[in-house]
Amino acid sequence: MSSLAIQSAKPVIRRSLAESLLTCSVFEREDAEYLAFGSAFHSFAATYQLHCKALGEETSLVDVARLANEAWHRTPGLLHNRWREFMQLCDDFAQSHRAGLDTLMHLEHTETLDVGWAILTCTIDRIDRADLGDPDDEPRRELDTDWKTEQGEMDHAFQASWYVQMRFLKHPSLDEVIFQVDSVRDRYRADPLTIRRGELDLWWKGMLVALRERWEAPAAARVPTGGPACEGCAHRFNCPKALAVAREVPETEEQADELFEEALRLEQAFAARKSALEIFYRQRNDRVVAGHEVGFLRPRLPHLRVTAKPLELRAWLNKRHMAGDSVLKVDTEQLRQSAIQQKLVEAGLATQEFSRPSFKWRHHVPARKARDQAREKEQE
Ligand code: SF4
Repeated sequence: MSSLAIQSAKPVIRRSLAESLLTCSVFEREDAEYLAFGSAFHSFAATYQLHCKALGEETSLVDVARLANEAWHRTPGLLHNRWREFMQLCDDFAQSHRAGLDTLMHLEHTETLDVGWAILTCTIDRIDRADLGDPDDEPRRELDTDWKTEQGEMDHAFQASWYVQMRFLKHPSLDEVIFQVDSVRDRYRADPLTIRRGELDLWWKGMLVALRERWEAPAAARVPTGGPACEGCAHRFNCPKALAVAREVPETEEQADELFEEALRLEQAFAARKSALEIFYRQRNDRVVAGHEVGFLRPRLPHLRVTAKPLELRAWLNKRHMAGDSVLKVDTEQLRQSAIQQKLVEAGLATQEFSRPSFKWRHHVPARKARDQAREKEQE
């Protein structure tokens, strides 16, 4: 693990600050609890893998609880009722990640780059050699991994570009860098991004000019612009340009619960209004209201309904040098019976998989059962 020790009059600009400043020059990072949670996890992940390295072992599960607990207690700004969640996340990480000692080069590696007017920095969670070359030579290809404790779809293009270009500029032997986001909470790995030397040069040049302009702009010239940075900005509750969503993001579980209950009420109100409009338009033609077509609308375009049998279609495509097999899909509706599914899995013809978690809400099964039981009791 490397630490950042820079003595310079130049400003030190981290990747996250640069990304936000480029969106809005008035941005100021909020001291949010979830950032501390992420820091604690990264601290655990690095020390755990360093510990494995010291032992020369790919895993060391017996030490996970101690290392996780230590990481938790050395991180300021945490909400202590999330300790169990943190311990579980660290345990899941250790269970699902080997230390990868054969290729490991760095953990929590801080890269710095002097660009004349500022010092740019970033911390890369893990760097692996990816060229199978002589370990005594500098690598020509490497894998940079970024562990994310957040969930949901997020855009990491800026982060990837910043990290990778800094690696290229500081390490002339590198020809290619693979950037991999590893979402540790839902164990989802996005497709790795492969970037070759030179691909980012034009972007980097323009980005540095824009960053310097934002950084050096006099206070009077700095105006809020709104944008994706708003959700992590300390001004989001009173800034006139803050995105409406950013103003709503709760800070505590109590606020989140209140917002959720309000969302449930609005959902019911919306469903009632939609049903009422549907009844109204049953007897009328559709109309244009407030920039929307409303009523019983015919689709804008027809859809294709294949009338041939699947094998006829396949033969027709193959004859025309197209991939006939690609149009034949197994209809999983036909295989709904769990007994058949089990047999397919046993035969190695199928696997049971969860899709990636997505944000939604649904009824809590134990609560629903308890409600049903209470109702039955009342009726007895
Ligand atoms: S809340 Fe205002 S100051 Fe903060 S990033 Fe958004 S627009 Fe800029």
